[in-house]
Amino acid sequence: MNLTQYQSVLKTLSKGFLDVIYPPFCLVCDSKLMVNEKAVCSSCWTQLTPVVEWDWKEKITFGEGIDKVMTGWYFDDLFQTIIHNLKYQEFRIIAKEFGIRLAKMFKQEISNDQIEVVIPISLHKVKLKQRGFNQSALIASPMARELHIEYRPNLVIRHRNTVSQTSLGVDDRRKNVSGAFRVKDMEEFRRFLIVDDVLTTGATLSACAQSLRKSGAHYISVITAGTPKKPVVKQIEDENENDQRS
Ligand SMILES: [Zn+2]
Repeated sequence: MNLTQYQSVLKTLSKGFLDVIYPPFCLVCDSKLMVNEKAVCSSCWTQLTPVVEWDWKEKITFGEGIDKVMTGWYFDDLFQTIIHNLKYQEFRIIAKEFGIRLAKMFKQEISNDQIEVVIPISLHKVKLKQRGFNQSALIASPMARELHIEYRPNLVIRHRNTVSQTSLGVDDRRKNVSGAFRVKDMEEFRRFLIVDDVLTTGATLSACAQSLRKSGAHYISVITAGTPKKPVVKQIEDENENDQRS
């Protein structure tokens, strides 16, 4: 057996081994995956509900520092199944798929805006150590590659650790992340695209955008994979009402 044959056998064996660990079935609908599909089948991806209006800026509570807001799909049950309830390894694959799909969806828009660099919403180092990965970076990196735009995961750092935004009301969300970000090195970049997984009030994205503004950014657009169908302010009010009733 020559080296090429040996490598080919190894490749086949390791592929078989990986198939045992990660059976090639769709994690959502259980149908068998095709050769070019990973974790979630294309049929499930196409059943996600796209957000048709691409500029979402008027719909967020906190937009200070942000010029444009783009978001891919509504946060419905299917979206939730895809983005949550997945093991670490699958999350990488899914985040990559989200990144590539978003890049294709908004390619023209991002090109018109002359974006120079893609950055993810950063996690504080303590949180990054606990979780082991930054989901925004896992989406942002393949997105930047697909768009052929520079990618700088550490251009803005989160120097203050914050509590989870999901436990807070609208005003507290802004206070919680205000001043949490610091620009480490702007280089020559002035036109930014900030990436996050889910858009809610926009408080975190706005805090990150404002730190870039202070350092001299000219244009900042943000992009997220999903957003709830109901405006978040309304949703929090409803939740509070329910809390008071119970
Ligand atoms: Zn499926």
